[in-house]
Amino acid sequence: MSSFLNSKLQKLDTYTPGEQPQDKKYIKLNTNESPFPPSKKVIAAINRAAVESLRLYCNPDATILKEELADTYGVKGKNIFVANGSDDILNFAFLCFGEKGVLFPDISYGFYEVFARFHGLDYEIAKLNDDFTVNIDDYKNKSKLVVIANPNAPTGIALSVSQIEDIVKSNPDSVVLIDEAYVDFGGESCFELTKKYKNLLCVMTFSKSRSMAGARLGFAIADEELIRDLERIKFSTNPYNVNTLTQIAGVETLRDREYYLENCKKIVKNREYAENSLKRLGFEVLPSSANFIFVRHAEISGKDLYLELKSRGILVRHFDKARIRDFNRITIGNRKEMEALVSTVKLILGEMEKTK
Ligand SMILES: *Cc1c(COP(=O)(O)O)cnc(C)c1O
Repeated sequence: MSSFLNSKLQKLDTYTPGEQPQDKKYIKLNTNESPFPPSKKVIAAINRAAVESLRLYCNPDATILKEELADTYGVKGKNIFVANGSDDILNFAFLCFGEKGVLFPDISYGFYEVFARFHGLDYEIAKLNDDFTVNIDDYKNKSKLVVIANPNAPTGIALSVSQIEDIVKSNPDSVVLIDEAYVDFGGESCFELTKKYKNLLCVMTFSKSRSMAGARLGFAIADEELIRDLERIKFSTNPYNVNTLTQIAGVETLRDREYYLENCKKIVKNREYAENSLKRLGFEVLPSSANFIFVRHAEISGKDLYLELKSRGILVRHFDKARIRDFNRITIGNRKEMEALVSTVKLILGEMEKTK
């Protein structure tokens, strides 16, 4: 740290992204990326002409992309905000709507606390129930920015739209942000409720179900006034936050819906396979509506399993945090990757049995 850094920023806790190791090739099940490539339409559209167009600034209004999103979700372009990944939107939303404080669960996406601290906001943390479900009563009548990932991460457990509606309805004076990064794998999106409630911000991303984590594209659906608030921040910081190639890729992605729906179906099947196989090996598996599962085993610590898997070329995510230290979060990959996971876990457990 240099002595020039703003003193307020010297104490900053930064977010720790999942490992992206470059040392060797792993079966990568640690950051919830899709095992499938982007659609052929995306690959064809990122052609020489598209790359040559990088000479020009991108369209700061992302007009075509917004129209395509509006079409996909049956809303208007003015109800849509796009940004450099949904993390960008979370950052803006904390800045815009967190003045009266923020509330989020103790076990959830780690970035919420980082953003709350970064923006100097008072924040309250609500404990998940013992079974790791969200207790919706904790979020009612709060009059502060409520932030919930649905399905939640890293548990994978989802709330229903009617539960979300109860929370939204009871907080008419503050914004409720529902982070739907994983909604396409079996959750229920609340975006329709944005037509009825002015305080609901529904945030989604192209990073997980749409195979575009590296392109950085997130979007939000909300009442047009909330969208305008977010646009104010974007146009006060970086109007070009979604680059030309990402806009093109986003449009083509939305035009090949079938392909991504099929991929989601495959992931759900592979999730069921992994869930059943690990349960047979004695694991507890939380009920997941996402492209990952959260698992623990009475005989091996979360950290040890993570390390054993890593030494055998499989990366999963371990969080060294109270309440969830015994767990690992495992991204659902393709069938071969899941089979390798299961057989490797079996091997590890078998070796432990022998050395007992
Ligand atoms: C992955 C993830 C995000 C971030 O997505 P990007 O669009 O890649 O920034 C946001 N929220 C949750 C809960 C996530 O797991």
